[in-house]
Amino acid sequence: MTSANSSTGTPQPASWEAQPLMLSERMARLGTETAFDVLARVHALRAEGRDIISFGLGEPDFETPDHIKAACKQALDQNHTHYGPSQGLPELRGAIAEYFARTRGVPVGPENVVVGPGAKPMLFSAMMALVNPGDEVIYPSPGYPIYESVADWIGAKSVPARLTEESEWSYDVDELASLVTPRTKAIVLNRGQNPTGGMLLAVDMDRIADIVLKNDLWVITDEVYSQIVFEYPFASILSVPGMAARTVAIDGFSKTYAMTGWRIGYAVCRADLAIHLSRIETNLHSCTSMLTQRAALCALQSSQEPSHAMAAAFRRRARLITDLLNDIPGVRCVTPRGAFYVFPNVTGACRSMGFASANEMCDHLMLEAGVAVLPRTCFGRRLENEEYIRLSFATSDANIVEGVGRIKEAVRSLS
Ligand code: PMP
Repeated sequence: MTSANSSTGTPQPASWEAQPLMLSERMARLGTETAFDVLARVHALRAEGRDIISFGLGEPDFETPDHIKAACKQALDQNHTHYGPSQGLPELRGAIAEYFARTRGVPVGPENVVVGPGAKPMLFSAMMALVNPGDEVIYPSPGYPIYESVADWIGAKSVPARLTEESEWSYDVDELASLVTPRTKAIVLNRGQNPTGGMLLAVDMDRIADIVLKNDLWVITDEVYSQIVFEYPFASILSVPGMAARTVAIDGFSKTYAMTGWRIGYAVCRADLAIHLSRIETNLHSCTSMLTQRAALCALQSSQEPSHAMAAAFRRRARLITDLLNDIPGVRCVTPRGAFYVFPNVTGACRSMGFASANEMCDHLMLEAGVAVLPRTCFGRRLENEEYIRLSFATSDANIVEGVGRIKEAVRSLS
């Protein structure tokens, strides 16, 4: 790389990397979300002209509904282009409180709500505010990789708790209880689960609440898929008696309203904690975009029909993709109960194709079969011997049929 010499205009070698990079020690503990790496690979291969069907990405394939976009355009014309309160616009917090009270069955006021640029930053702030270095944080594995990454980054110890295929991806609650030590500070729950599509059973939620209350713990419950569930009504641990004082519930607009790129989510918790989460917002982002907040307010206050239609499409596709996967020799797939993921067991297919791991199988599928899927290792520390992959079915029926067909053919041709 070259740059122009300011005095002579002569190109000079760039010197960005001339010195050793002396990163902080904590950077060695920070993980990542590998789905974004796979997405980059898909883009690179497509740029070379390759035909890749992607089951990699965790975002709705629908567009943000028009009335929400219109609210943003109107906010822009009305010059809502300034800083706003770090905790979020009072009107929006009021609407979120009303929505949360209705869907979780607990009294919630605007003082219990903190808005941020996505659910992800709110997970981060909740851990920053509650967990000390040396504390232990129990998280689901397989699970969304950010729980482990953030816990380790802030100097805590991340402790994976197994979700099992046999329980249709619920916790083994006895095993979970055995992981609690005097250092345990928090348990992370994710109801509507990424990557498995599982739903923690209501009876298990009660038992986990028991463990939390007895051991004086916190729960951080990630409920971003609360409106993409295939069995109603959605239930949150927040509504178990005694849990409101110990729960940070996180939800957002990314999945429910197909607003992933707008960046907005929120935490709901006791007001004396909300003040501190808001202080973290002041330090990190100042505030969430006013345009996005106005659009989000419109999303909550207008017809929920588009969201219901998206959820119905995901429910239908869940059955379609599960049936197609179960038709492949060496693949076994639990039907998801929510979100837009399936997490089939591919141990048999891996072995018959001659692969030592799901990672090798995923590479083969991407490069030889033109299908992007994610291996188990993208989702927290592995606690089992079986091989799994994740497919996001936030893609068209035609892509599902063609993509799973390609996987079937790849298994057949190598077996
Ligand atoms: N939690 C889970 C379980 C997710 O799957 C995702 C998105 N992939 C998020 C949080 C992040 O959501 P947001 O876009 O609101 O930051």
